[in-house]
Amino acid sequence: MSHTVLEIDLSALEHNYDYLRSKLRPEVKMLAVVKAYAYGSESVAIAKKLEEKGVDYFAVAYTAEGITLREAGVKTPILVLHPQIENFAEIIEYNLEPSIYSFRVLKAFTEIAEAKGIKEYPIHIKFNTGLNRLGFKDVNEKDILDQLNATKALKVISLFSHLVASEDMNERRFTQYQIETFEKNAKHMIEGLGYAPMMHQSNTSAIINYPEAQFDMVRSGIGLFGYGNTQEEDLKLKPVATLKTVISQIHDVAVNETVGYNRAHTAAKLERSATLPIGHADGIARTYGKGRGYVMIHGKKAPIIGNVCMDMIMVNVTEIDCQEGDEVIVFGKDASAVALSARINSIPYELITAISQRVKRKIIE
Ligand SMILES: *Cc1c(COP(=O)(O)O)cnc(C)c1O
Repeated sequence: MSHTVLEIDLSALEHNYDYLRSKLRPEVKMLAVVKAYAYGSESVAIAKKLEEKGVDYFAVAYTAEGITLREAGVKTPILVLHPQIENFAEIIEYNLEPSIYSFRVLKAFTEIAEAKGIKEYPIHIKFNTGLNRLGFKDVNEKDILDQLNATKALKVISLFSHLVASEDMNERRFTQYQIETFEKNAKHMIEGLGYAPMMHQSNTSAIINYPEAQFDMVRSGIGLFGYGNTQEEDLKLKPVATLKTVISQIHDVAVNETVGYNRAHTAAKLERSATLPIGHADGIARTYGKGRGYVMIHGKKAPIIGNVCMDMIMVNVTEIDCQEGDEVIVFGKDASAVALSARINSIPYELITAISQRVKRKIIE
C-alpha cells in the first residue's frame, strides 16, 4: 500500500445483482443506474460486468456519461435521465435514449429526429407523481399524446416515474398514492398510443419495500453498490467500493501542542497522530473534521483531529498499535459508509459519490 485507492470489487457487484434479481418476478427487467461514475466507483468496469450478467438496461444522469459507456463498447440500451436540448444530436449519434420530461424537450427532440429523417427513435416519457423534480403531470396526458401521435419519428419505449420516499415506511400512504397515480397515467397513455411501452417506477428501496410496484422493469442504483437503506438489507448486500489509504507519518503530540490548520485540535495529554494522504480534494468533506469523522486502522476507530486539509487528514492513533506504512480503511468492507456518513448527517449516496477522480480506482475481479 503506498497511496489512496478505491477498490472496486466486482464479485460484490455480482452478489448484489443476484440478490436484487431474486426479489423480482422472473419476467421483470433490471435497469442498472450507473450515473455519477457508477455511484463514485468506475462506470465502465461496472457496466461491463453487469452487461455480462445480462442486465437489461442502463441509466445515466447526463449525456456525457452515456457517451463514455458507448465509447467503451457497452451495447445495452442506455436511458439518459436528465438530458438537455443541446445534447440531443449526440444522444442520437451515440444511440442513447432520452428521458422526455417536458413539452419543451419533447418538441425539441421531435424536431431534431424529424430533421434527421429518423423513424421510431426510442424515448422514455417521465411522469411527475409527487417528487416535483422532472416530469409531466396527469393534466398533460392529452397534449403529450397529440404530439406523439402526430409524428412517426418517435417510439415510446417506456413510461416511468420516480418515488419520493420508498425507503421510509412512514410515507407508505404517499408512496401508494404515487404508484396509483403512475398506473393511471400509464393506462391513459397506453390507450392513447395504441401500444404498450414498458412501465417502471421502483428504485432500490422500492424493490425491497413495494414488490407490487415492479411493473415491467425496476431501476436499481445504490443496492447494486451494496447499500439497502436499512440495516437488515445492508447485511444482505456487499459494498462494492472500499476506500483505502495509508499512514504517511506518525507524530507524538505533546500536551498543549496543536494539530493542523487554525490550531483546531489541542492535545490534552501526550497523543499520537497519524497523517494520511487523503483530504477534501479526494472527497472527505471538511465537516468530518474536528472529531466528527473517523477512519479504521487495524479494526479500530481513529477519529479525525483538527481540520480536514485539501490533501491530508490527521487522525488520533494514541490508543491504536500502528506504524507508518500501515493500511487505513475509510469506508467499504469492514468500515460502514452508513455509520461514517451519519456522523455528518449525511447518507452513503453522498459519501460514496463524492470520492474524486484523483483517487485511483483499482478493479478486483
Ligand atoms: C438515481 C435514480 C435511481 C436509483 O435510485 P437508488 O435509490 O440508488 O436505487 C432510480 N431512478 C431515478 C430516476 C434516479 O434518478
